[in-house]
Amino acid sequence: MTITATADAVVDTLEPRLFIDGRWRDAENNKLFHVHNPADGSVLMQVADATPGDGRDALDSAAAAQNEWARTSPRMRSAILYSAFDAVVARAEEFATLITLEMGKPLAESRAEVAYGAEFLRWFAEEAVRIGGRYATAPDGRTRLLVHKRPVGPSLLITPWNFPLAMATRKIAPAIAAGCTMVLKPAALTPLTSLLLTSVISEAGLPAGVLNVIPTSSAGAVTSGIVTDPRLRKLSFTGSTEVGRRLLADSAAQVLRTSMELGGNAPFLIFEDADVDAAVEGALLAKLRNMGEACTAANRFLVHDSVADEFTDKLARKMAALNVGPGIDSATQIGPLIDEDSRSKVHELVEDAIREGAVIRTGGAIVDGPGYFYKPTVLADVDPASRLLREEIFGPVAPIVRFSTEAQAVTAANDTEYGLVAYAYTRDAARTLRLLETVESGMIGINVGVVSNPAAPFGGVKQSGLGREGGAEGIDEYLETRYAGIADPYEPSGRL
Ligand code: NAP
Repeated sequence: MTITATADAVVDTLEPRLFIDGRWRDAENNKLFHVHNPADGSVLMQVADATPGDGRDALDSAAAAQNEWARTSPRMRSAILYSAFDAVVARAEEFATLITLEMGKPLAESRAEVAYGAEFLRWFAEEAVRIGGRYATAPDGRTRLLVHKRPVGPSLLITPWNFPLAMATRKIAPAIAAGCTMVLKPAALTPLTSLLLTSVISEAGLPAGVLNVIPTSSAGAVTSGIVTDPRLRKLSFTGSTEVGRRLLADSAAQVLRTSMELGGNAPFLIFEDADVDAAVEGALLAKLRNMGEACTAANRFLVHDSVADEFTDKLARKMAALNVGPGIDSATQIGPLIDEDSRSKVHELVEDAIREGAVIRTGGAIVDGPGYFYKPTVLADVDPASRLLREEIFGPVAPIVRFSTEAQAVTAANDTEYGLVAYAYTRDAARTLRLLETVESGMIGINVGVVSNPAAPFGGVKQSGLGREGGAEGIDEYLETRYAGIADPYEPSGRL
């Protein structure tokens, strides 16, 4: 693989350090950790490795800045977000290159992530000036009720490696809009994009102390001191359900406000009345965006008997024709998986399913050479009890299971502890409405393969999470509602 001069330049201009109280600095013990390129396993950069002491410094800074930041005008916070949006858009190629280098996705997908991630900055610039309240007369007429919203306070934001820009802006932008200060802990596998984002937001005029960023290779040790510190008021986490459960338990000690964007196991239903060609196109998007390394990735294809052969043949043909390679090459359609552990897990799930009777229609194998590539894979006749259908695959593998009635399809779709997103292809309006009511997921795509949209509330039910990011709901996660009861102004006791 050849990394272009531009790619080298992007890496060279980064500040690979901690950002605390408006300053770049080294870790207190000067330790560093390596960030790798998953396309060839090479070291991209060494980054300062925050310690628990650095984590405390970051929270000190966020806590000290909170009161003044909460008093800034919504218009000022909005203007900073608009400037940051413009700067991310202007530097879109740098961001896209960095995402591809550290995370692996093809450049075209990285560009799409930059457009999506930047949009949260613009969306919340618009929401910052719409924080409302109300004034009402109590039913008995004796008091007036004044309801207003205040920033929750210092927030810890923990993000995953699979969307290094968008998962950060989806939290940072509403926190800025609401008037919260924050400590961001990016994923150790992909901290570089968040460091570039930090310089961009800081240059957009964010005051010192509002955003503090602490890359670290010791996530648990560094964040546990912050989560248990009484100055922290909010934890927003995106990552696996397993880690989310642990963080929820830790948050209970201080009754922290929490937002949890966790794992998924999305069903993709194709009914007998579906446009099969459209379903194949939607399936490619829902399955292969991010090489399948997305919480929204279609994990189980549930297909009506009458269209299952046609859908399987067409999907297998298209997936077999995809170009697998380093994301930095413009011809690449499927990049590497994030690391060897992830690739081994994907292959193990495929081998288990084959032992239980699944039939390989394409793929099913590791690609030799440097980098963690896996062949796009379609498996037919998958045993409904197989592990492949229970766990997040997080790879380019499409398992197909047949059904014969709508009731069977819905039961199978709901047979999981997850409930993030579901997809359905059908042209029957009544069936669509039934699915909206019976499929247990926070989001559903009807005849579309991607649902993520900054203007919509993203989030799950069941063990896929708590709270919503994006949409009108996203800013509420960083606000708390307060109310004042005021005596009747017409009574003598009501004189202020
Ligand atoms: P992960 O292992 O749970 O890690 C997520 C983040 O938590 C990382 O920053 C990680 O740091 C940190 N972390 C790990 N252990 C921790 C601990 N004990 N205490 C505090 N922080 C800890 O998840 P991932 O592998 O990065 O991401 C993939 C998962 O995220 C999948 O399950 C996917 O479905 C989910 N996801 C959900 C959404 C959504 O919106 N619902 C979006 C994207 C991804 P290190 O990097 O240092 O380990």
